[in-house]
Amino acid sequence: MEESAVDTIPHWIAGGPCAQRSERRSAVWNPATGVQRAWVGLGGAAEVDQAVQAASQAFESWSQTSLGRRTQILFAFRERVRSQAQRIAEAIADEHGKTVPDALGEVQRGLEVVDFACGIASLLKGDYSDQVSQGIDLFSFRAPLGVVAGITPFNFPAMVPLWMFPLAIACGNSFVLKPSERDPTASMLLAQLWAEAGLPEGVFNVVHGDKAAVDALLEHPQVAAISFVGSTPIARYVHQRGTAAGKRVQALGGAKNHAIVLPDADEAFAAEQLASAAFGSAGQRCMAISAAVVVGFDGDTFAQTVSDRAASIKVGPGRDPRTQMGPVVTREARERITRLIGSAPEQGAAIALDGRGVVVPGHEAGFFVGPTVIDRVEPRMDVYREEIFGPVLCVLHARSLTEAIELVNANPYGNGAAIFTRSGSAAREFQRRVRAGMIGINVPIPVPMAYYSFGGWGDSLFGDRHVYGPEGVAFYTRAKVVTSRWPQLEADGNVPYHFPTAT
Ligand code: NAD
Repeated sequence: MEESAVDTIPHWIAGGPCAQRSERRSAVWNPATGVQRAWVGLGGAAEVDQAVQAASQAFESWSQTSLGRRTQILFAFRERVRSQAQRIAEAIADEHGKTVPDALGEVQRGLEVVDFACGIASLLKGDYSDQVSQGIDLFSFRAPLGVVAGITPFNFPAMVPLWMFPLAIACGNSFVLKPSERDPTASMLLAQLWAEAGLPEGVFNVVHGDKAAVDALLEHPQVAAISFVGSTPIARYVHQRGTAAGKRVQALGGAKNHAIVLPDADEAFAAEQLASAAFGSAGQRCMAISAAVVVGFDGDTFAQTVSDRAASIKVGPGRDPRTQMGPVVTREARERITRLIGSAPEQGAAIALDGRGVVVPGHEAGFFVGPTVIDRVEPRMDVYREEIFGPVLCVLHARSLTEAIELVNANPYGNGAAIFTRSGSAAREFQRRVRAGMIGINVPIPVPMAYYSFGGWGDSLFGDRHVYGPEGVAFYTRAKVVTSRWPQLEADGNVPYHFPTAT
């Protein structure tokens, strides 16, 4: 495509669009057509510093803005996102590839965090203890941190940023978002909606970019905290480098989410749920089920049942209302996924349903991979060890619940884990023994509501705090405890010199 035919998406700094200073830029594709949609500037230290300075200046007054005023702006933002949900979803479909209803679902799940943040006046209430000693009261409150940054992945270009900034801003911080360079438009639409909602300039900023922008945020002395969501190697790097620079960091990484299917489960129900959880959004969800551990089923029957369901999934462009599963995000992602599928039979697994070579008429240049089910997978195989992040379900076999739980627990990731069973005691044993942060019981994608918090164990989270919910409020604030006395003016000469204790 001609360079002149596509626009360059600008940054958003100090309340409006801001052009890229250097020549560095990256192509943004429409994965359904394989055609370039836009360029996006790749910011570096200069753009990051400009955004952090704007955020730093805005923090001075935003952190002093009353809770009532902050709440009004949050409600106004909420209404605007609701009214523009379709537009945001269509932009996501065009850059990410997921279907419009799926994208609407992610906007809705992000909005739930805005709903939660609208209750900030209650969430920031402190404690008060009267008369802890003679004439002395004790109370606590939480103060914002300053400029905080969010670095987000391509797979939820609206929802994951919305996990972060509504609460960060509600708590009185200012925010710099570094979204994925692969689908940057949703964050620009959200920035515009903040401005329309009356958020003061500089409280919310967007700097596009890649490693250079991330490194600049990690090193910037005025950035107090970093929230990161992405793959495990980058999450580990961001956590190590950010904490070494003295910042508070929460870094959510990749996943290999397992579902155990017990012999007493309703096979048709479990197969239907797993097909949806494995192939929705082309398997590019951090909570997608990518490994089914089947206990006690004869031979390959379960893999065949899931394959039968998955074979009928309609693959096509995300804008087509008949489509159930769109393309993967880039040509490189498709090549990586098909290479990994190819390694499975070489290493001893059996492909029950093969999505390689799927062609969508009229979209021959799109980045499509069809639903793929691989049976007889073992933990040593590449398809199990690597996070494929595509529409591929691995089926493993175990002889008992205990063996299945041990298999799940031996995996380094620990984001979500699910069980399908009719047995309460088996489900209880699973929920207590499995090493994962989010557990589903006959629910394959157990993403907690916004008034809980989201986070995994093991290599799926580096740092101490989960995102959004009560842990999000704790992450974006720090505690102050005030001990106060209003004495009579005349000193009575009886002030002790030992360490103060209650009298
Ligand atoms: P990614 O790790 O490639 O990118 C995430 C962010 O890091 C992007 O903003 C990117 O620009 C930046 N980045 C990329 N390479 C970098 C580098 N070398 N140095 C510094 N920054 C870098 O992830 P992705 O491909 O955009 O997203 C998919 C991954 O995110 C999957 O692994 C998925 O499991 C994970 N994810 C996890 C969760 C969760 O809640 N745990 C949620 C969504 C996605």
